Amino acid sequence: MLLNDRVCVITGAASARGIGKATARLFASHGARVAVLDLDAGQAEAAARDIGPGHIGLACNVTDRAACSTAAEEIIGRLGRIDVLVNNAGITQPLKIMEIGPENYDAVTDVNLRGTLYMSQAVIPAMRGQGSGAIVCMSSVSAQRGGGIFGGPHYSAAKGGVLGLAKAMARELGPDGVRVNSVTPGLIQTDITGGKLTPELKVEIAKGIPLGRLGVADDVANACLFLASDLSTYITGAVIDVNGGMLIH
Ligand code: NAD
Repeated sequence: MLLNDRVCVITGAASARGIGKATARLFASHGARVAVLDLDAGQAEAAARDIGPGHIGLACNVTDRAACSTAAEEIIGRLGRIDVLVNNAGITQPLKIMEIGPENYDAVTDVNLRGTLYMSQAVIPAMRGQGSGAIVCMSSVSAQRGGGIFGGPHYSAAKGGVLGLAKAMARELGPDGVRVNSVTPGLIQTDITGGKLTPELKVEIAKGIPLGRLGVADDVANACLFLASDLSTYITGAVIDVNGGMLIH
């Protein structure tokens, strides 16, 4: 049990096959009390029920600063504290550079980058008050190699921004006992690609991955568990690749 009685907040954790839900389930199995946040209250509550008793689900659009603060207050009111935040909520779009319109840029940057800032700001006062906390930010291999497989340049830019934000938060919050780290997944089989990756394309992609397969949500959840738990107490500002060797650098 690596997270006994820790209160863990995971954004974008209602998606059935998603990284957030897998992380929520894994954290719960390690004794955590989990707050599942997502756009739809019903889906967030259902996901929380699904991982077991004692967890809560709340509607929270991470692009809305007030909604992030309200969610954090409710979690502290109901569960008493916040020990861990996983900034997982994200969207992507498969666009080429000249196809990116203002609305595409805003949508992708807002959820991935602004959302990471706002939700972190919502929990930092509580973590500072406790003198402890762990924040995990979901970036992407796309930030490191200039495009993953699916997301466009605006997604790479937003996820690159997440890395910078996380490192800067790590530097600023270290003295308060709050650690901040990032995870950079490769291609993970979830619903974020909206079914647009064909089986043939998946086989083709797997050929370029040294470990010979695409990732699954649990692969990323395991890295989040490490970064959220006391196994990583001397690690902050780090970036953990979970990509099967797709990018070795
Ligand atoms: P997913 O689509 O299954 O899950 C994303 C979740 O975020 C959904 O539940 C969605 O409702 C939620 N969400 C979207 N906008 C939101 C908002 N404004 N506020 C709150 N929640 C919101 O996708 P996933 O693949 O599990 O992705 C999880 C994270 O991992 C994302 O940040 C994604 O960019 C990142 N990632 C995924 C992959 C991959 O290959 N799947 C690779 C690298 C990084």
